[in-house]
Amino acid sequence: LLRINEIFGPTVQGEGSAAGQHCLFVRTALCNLECLWCDTDYTWAFTPSKAARHQSKTVHDRATNIKMMSTEQVLSELRGTWDIFTRPTNIIISGGEPLLQAASLEDLVQVLDQYGNKVHIETAGTIVPTSQLNKYVAQYNVSPKLAHSGNSIVRRYNGEALDYFVNHCRTWWKFVVTCEEDFAEIDLIVGKHNIPPNRVMMMPEGMTIERNLEVARRLADHGLQRGYGISLRTHILLWPDTSRGR
Ligand code: SF4
Repeated sequence: LLRINEIFGPTVQGEGSAAGQHCLFVRTALCNLECLWCDTDYTWAFTPSKAARHQSKTVHDRATNIKMMSTEQVLSELRGTWDIFTRPTNIIISGGEPLLQAASLEDLVQVLDQYGNKVHIETAGTIVPTSQLNKYVAQYNVSPKLAHSGNSIVRRYNGEALDYFVNHCRTWWKFVVTCEEDFAEIDLIVGKHNIPPNRVMMMPEGMTIERNLEVARRLADHGLQRGYGISLRTHILLWPDTSRGR
């Protein structure tokens, strides 16, 4: 069974190289990291000690935020949002950290691919996918976490996993940026793992339009000089008052 947090669509991919594309979302529950500014802490902050790691300090209800679902149930719920068997689209599998459940996702991803859907996996790049899952993934959106996420380097950095994704031509990279100092850290990862700069998107941090644009305007040129692209957070621009299900 899969641990699912929410399924919704049709909507647009909010972030990264595919920002603006039509898609459906499958959000898996649980994460192996605890980012201070995580915008989906309802997928993992289920105990006071976990919640203490997040800036909101909110303890979320585990029972309502984790649904145990079979592949068939996920497909059926997706079909309730869009006819994925006759009108294939992009399916974004996000989290939490979807690759915690890599083996359990294999059947789902295979069926989605079989009907012409393009499956994108969003990951923090600390876990290597299974080879069976990898066969059917159209795009990886890998977002390595930096020091400002509040996770220790041991937890947030796995060089072997990053090398795996670098060697896959279907990978795009996404780095959340908050200030100029973040670029030194990004440059280190990009340089060490030979990540092609033109596959890197910087994503200004910000849960509100104002904050997102302020960070973007302040940092755009720093990234462009390095060959990186920039992605605003489309869902926040389109639906500023909706925090979930968009
Ligand atoms: S890796 Fe992603 S889902 Fe996990 S805590 Fe960080 S931002 Fe949230």
